[in-house]
Amino acid sequence: MNTMQTEVAIVGGGPAGLMLAIELGCRDIPCVLLEEDADPPAFPKANATSARTMEHYRRRGFSDEIRALGLPLDYPQDVVYCTQLAEHELARFRIPSRGDAARRGEAGSGDTGDYGSDAWPTPELPHRVQQMLIEPVLRRRAAVYPSVRLCLGQRAVAVEQDEQGVTAMVEPEGGGPAWRLSARYLVGCDGPRSLVRKSLGVGYSGQGSEQRDFFGGQMLSIYFRSRRLYDAIGKQPAWQYWAVNARQRGLLIAVDGIETFLLAVQLAPGQSPGDIDPVATAYAVVGREFDFELIDRLPWVAGYTLVADRMGAGRVFLAGDAAHLFTPTGGMGYNTSIDDVVNLGWKLAAVIRCEAPPALLDSYERERRPMALRNTAFARRMADSIGNLRAGADIEAAGEAGARARAELGRQLAAHVAGEFNIPGLQLGVRYLDSPIVAAESGPASHDDPNRYEPLALPGSRAPHAIVRGKVLFDLFGRDFTLLAFGALPASEREAWRAAADECGIGLEVLEVDDAAVRVLYGAERVLIRPDHHIAWRGIAGADARPLLAGALGRARMR
Ligand SMILES: Cc1cc2nc3c(=O)[nH]c(=O)nc-3n(C[C@H](O)[C@H](O)[C@H](O)COP(=O)(O)OP(=O)(O)OC[C@H]3O[C@@H](n4cnc5c(N)ncnc54)[C@H](O)[C@@H]3O)c2cc1C
Repeated sequence: MNTMQTEVAIVGGGPAGLMLAIELGCRDIPCVLLEEDADPPAFPKANATSARTMEHYRRRGFSDEIRALGLPLDYPQDVVYCTQLAEHELARFRIPSRGDAARRGEAGSGDTGDYGSDAWPTPELPHRVQQMLIEPVLRRRAAVYPSVRLCLGQRAVAVEQDEQGVTAMVEPEGGGPAWRLSARYLVGCDGPRSLVRKSLGVGYSGQGSEQRDFFGGQMLSIYFRSRRLYDAIGKQPAWQYWAVNARQRGLLIAVDGIETFLLAVQLAPGQSPGDIDPVATAYAVVGREFDFELIDRLPWVAGYTLVADRMGAGRVFLAGDAAHLFTPTGGMGYNTSIDDVVNLGWKLAAVIRCEAPPALLDSYERERRPMALRNTAFARRMADSIGNLRAGADIEAAGEAGARARAELGRQLAAHVAGEFNIPGLQLGVRYLDSPIVAAESGPASHDDPNRYEPLALPGSRAPHAIVRGKVLFDLFGRDFTLLAFGALPASEREAWRAAADECGIGLEVLEVDDAAVRVLYGAERVLIRPDHHIAWRGIAGADARPLLAGALGRARMR
């Protein structure tokens, strides 16, 4: 049997596996990605890319390419609630178009809709684009790196590890001889049914299959084409349209903003997907008949709040849906997956290059599992908030009673939608304050509020966004570590940091920033930024660089 050798084996080529390959590839780490599907998915799934994920794409130089995909440039990315989509509008949350988001990022001039002008201090506002359009970009970007090998149409069928390494048994999907992939480390990015998680004997804990009126039970996604649906709805376009009534609830998502749509409906108890007539269901959600061409349909289950009990064991790690499963409210499943592998990627690279001991990898679970619990809990609260909201028959009544019922429901929906979609704290406030590889400070941290982000520069937090000399500060950070130096940086101190970095074998960008406001934002004279743009340490000028870098790499205890 043929055997292929590599440093990191990645099982699964969805967003998590592909982004991990990119993080390893940009550091020249040999890795082999196994993906059972030869072609990228052709059915819509995730459609909300968070500001944090866009920042990660920006770090790797392709946020513009992702921003260019999706709805037309000036198409509003609003969320709108109606009795039926062609009937009464109950509430609308205005989300900037991608044109406005880009203008706001570049020149600070785009309309920020109901986000408000200052609530999202990031160069990359959230973006709406289907996962099926993102994955081809990630595949192309990963393939650019010579150290990355994408093995598509190859399924891992067994995984074993011992003290020396990990082996995956692989079978080509189209038939052909099985082969073996040997690696020092293996990462299971193989989705909810993860073979890798099961091979570790690790389970999910949390809530499975909760029941709600909507987003709690068996769902059916109907992907279709219609040239006249916008006319039938007769409203200002939106990205998400919700039908909220006592008869047929539904969520319609604009896919290309022209003629393709995804409709999600929940099945009644005892119904199976085959019982659903897609055309009649779409008419019932919209409240009109219109031209309808079915592209495909996919059953799925909503109502999971599950996190793996461990995110790794020995030489094997879990990331993405293999480690946590969400209800889609808040749109954080894929985004949490990207954050996982950005965290794991630089650590694996540092250990493989012998810049850090294997103990650095223990910090992956310590940092990411609490974030998985935090984000899944948020999604669950939002699913309860919208899924258990009851709409009486009176909201469709004519006359004053109907108007009053609609106004009341509209108030409830307006409160809900801001809670679910205006989430700068959830996306930008990701923090690892208790991590063993950050220099924890005893001072109080701002409350971790999903709907409010207060820039936080405590070690462990995401480095706050700033503009320096007309440039985005993040764009000036190095690929690996960065020392931000506010105020005078004597040559001897610069030299000491460089020597300490050379001793560890790591890359260190030393960035002098002469800006009083940014100095206040970061709250210290010197700040050490990690490769994932989280703060490892902050403190005074002249601090001893060696123990700080050693601590950030897991070589020594952080002070
Ligand atoms: C209807 C729906 C809507 C959603 N909307 C959103 C949203 O708006 N925002 C959001 O953030 N998330 C959303 N999600 C969740 C999102 O799609 C997932 O969280 C995301 O795809 C997780 O990425 P992943 O790479 O971890 O796993 P996956 O995308 O599941 O990728 C796993 C990959 O592994 C491959 N694989 C599995 N087993 C093997 C094996 N043994 N060998 C080789 N390959 C294997 C699979 O083919 C697959 O390509 C939604 C999900 C659904 C179902």
